[in-house]
Amino acid sequence: MLNIIIFGPPGCGKGTQSAKITEKYNLVHISTGDIIRKEIKSHSEFGILLKAIVEKGELVPYELIIKILESALAKNKNANGFIFDGFPRTIDQATDLDKILKKDNKSISLVLSLKVEDDVVIERLLKRAQIEGRKDDTEDVIKNRLKIYKDETYPLIALYKDQGKYFEVEGSNTIDEIFKSASDIIDSNY
Ligand code: AMP
Repeated sequence: MLNIIIFGPPGCGKGTQSAKITEKYNLVHISTGDIIRKEIKSHSEFGILLKAIVEKGELVPYELIIKILESALAKNKNANGFIFDGFPRTIDQATDLDKILKKDNKSISLVLSLKVEDDVVIERLLKRAQIEGRKDDTEDVIKNRLKIYKDETYPLIALYKDQGKYFEVEGSNTIDEIFKSASDIIDSNY
C-alpha cells in the first residue's frame, strides 16, 4: 500500500501535486486544510471554532486535528493508499499518524518534500488571496504560518530523514517538471 506524505511550506504547491499524484497512483487525498475549510463553510459549531484559529494562521489543537484525520481515514477504509497533505505538521502528529496506521498494519511509504524559498511562497500566497479570497492569505497571517512551519513542522524533516523516507523535489520548477520528479521518486522507491 502506497502512503505518501506531501510536505512543504504553505504555498509550495502541495495541493496541485497531490491532485496529480492521487490520480496517477489511484490514492485517496487527505488534505486536513480542505476538510477544515469545508467544515468552516458549513457554519457548524465546530466550523466556527476552527475559523477563529485558521484565520490567525495558528495550528488547530492536537486533539481536534487527530479527530479530523481519524474520521477521514475511517471514511476510506478500502483505499488503495493515501496522500497526506498538510498533515502531519508537528512531531506529535507524526507519531500519532504512525500509531493510527500501524493499527491497520499500514505505514508511511515516503515523504515528498517540495522546496520553495520564502519570498516565492509569499508572492504565490498573496496572488492566491486575490484569486480565491482565502482569509489566511494576508501578509501578516502568511508570515505567522511560515513561522509556525519553521518552528513546529520543520523538525519533521530530520525525523523522516532518519527513517530513510525523505525525498526532496525542487518546488519552483513548473507543475509538470515537479510532477515528473515526484513520479520518478515514487516509482523508484516503492
Ligand atoms: P493548509 O491548507 O494545509 O495550509 O491548512 C490551512 C489551515 O488549517 C492551517 O493554517 C491550520 O490553521 C489548519 N490546519 C491544517 N492542517 C493542520 C494540521 N495538521 N494541524 C493543525 N492545523 C492544521
